[in-house]
Amino acid sequence: MDDMTKEAIRYLGYGKHAVDERTLALISDSFRNLEETAGRKSIYRIFDFNQTADDEFTIGTSAIQSSSLGRNLKGCRKVILFGATLGAGVDRLITRASVTDMAGAVVLQACAAALLEEYCDRCQTEIGMEMEKEGLHLRPRFSPGYGDFDIRFQAPLIQMLNCAKTIGLTMTDSYMMTPTKSVTAVIGASDTAEKCHIKGCEVCEKKDCIYRR
Ligand code: SF4
Repeated sequence: MDDMTKEAIRYLGYGKHAVDERTLALISDSFRNLEETAGRKSIYRIFDFNQTADDEFTIGTSAIQSSSLGRNLKGCRKVILFGATLGAGVDRLITRASVTDMAGAVVLQACAAALLEEYCDRCQTEIGMEMEKEGLHLRPRFSPGYGDFDIRFQAPLIQMLNCAKTIGLTMTDSYMMTPTKSVTAVIGASDTAEKCHIKGCEVCEKKDCIYRR
């Protein structure tokens, strides 16, 4: 079983329980349909990072207050803002399925979330390789809504990346992203390598890490 299938099963809430053959077939159909539909796009920009207190810092010209993100970014020299989307076609696919086949739509949702995660990991690996050339090492990505990093910071992130133009990503007044299968995130870059796990702190074995999110 590949990692994306495992991730989709986890999103579906199966935990350690065995997943039945029918659901496995639905998952594999969903990934096939999503592959045909997804219009993956991503963008990143590198900004200077200036931390004035544990929970206060600026990224570019944007002032941010958050102790959880402040801890994660401590010691970073640069910060990368990152945006990615699977595109509007995926939303249409899920909406169509939800009219005729609710169980299928639920599986599609889980598979789309797994596909987005995998795409973001791949983008982050590529960004990481670029940054290594400048002697900088990435921390795990951190999205608005994690810890006390307020969801309203999605607005400046989308604006600073010019997401509407660059990747077709916008946001409603209630901070819902359109297309819905999209991500915005902050990724710290520091001079010292922490050997961060690409899947983030939750699966990292360095339990005593001071930057843990
Ligand atoms: S806990 Fe692991 S993944 Fe998280 S910041 Fe520390 S080294 Fe990186």
